[in-house]
Amino acid sequence: MELKSFIRDIPDFPAKGIIFRDVTPLLKNPAAFQKAIDEMTKILQDMKFDLIVSPEARGFIFGAALAYKLGKGLVPVRKPGKLPYKTVSIEYNLEYGTAQLHMHSDALQQGQRVIIVDDVLATGGTAAAIASLVKNVGGEVAGMCFLIELSYLSPREKLKDYDVRSVLVY
Ligand code: AMP
Repeated sequence: MELKSFIRDIPDFPAKGIIFRDVTPLLKNPAAFQKAIDEMTKILQDMKFDLIVSPEARGFIFGAALAYKLGKGLVPVRKPGKLPYKTVSIEYNLEYGTAQLHMHSDALQQGQRVIIVDDVLATGGTAAAIASLVKNVGGEVAGMCFLIELSYLSPREKLKDYDVRSVLVY
């Protein structure tokens, strides 16, 4: 089964010039979704870590399935105003304007090792911001894992300090 055939390309969404990689066809196909999680599990096999950290919204889908499969905990990273307890936050640049992400300030214990998981690695800005949050609360970034990497946006330039792994590269 070719996983890329379950990724739908939507040109000019959400803005002109962007090819949106839509994972919903993959998610609704049981065999494809299972294979996606199995492949992500495989590329993490040799990694030693304690927790998975994932951003809303599509990151939760893959992060939660992986956490369950690997028997790890899950730490959510969210947009402002969503997390109920004390948070740390970071502002970072998007293609247009800026965005802010939050994590609970007690989400990690000192020295805990995490894998950052999301559906798509595009510019790398989101992953780099999450890595800063992890370090800010005393955690260590053991690695990063994505279903899809858009190599033409050169995300790894922003992520030179990290072990970045992805299943499908465009
Ligand atoms: P970035 O910070 O540029 O690496 O963008 C990563 C975040 O934006 C991820 O959470 C993705 O879900 C989403 N994203 C960015 N670009 C795309 C794209 N072309 N297709 C699908 N999702 C994208």
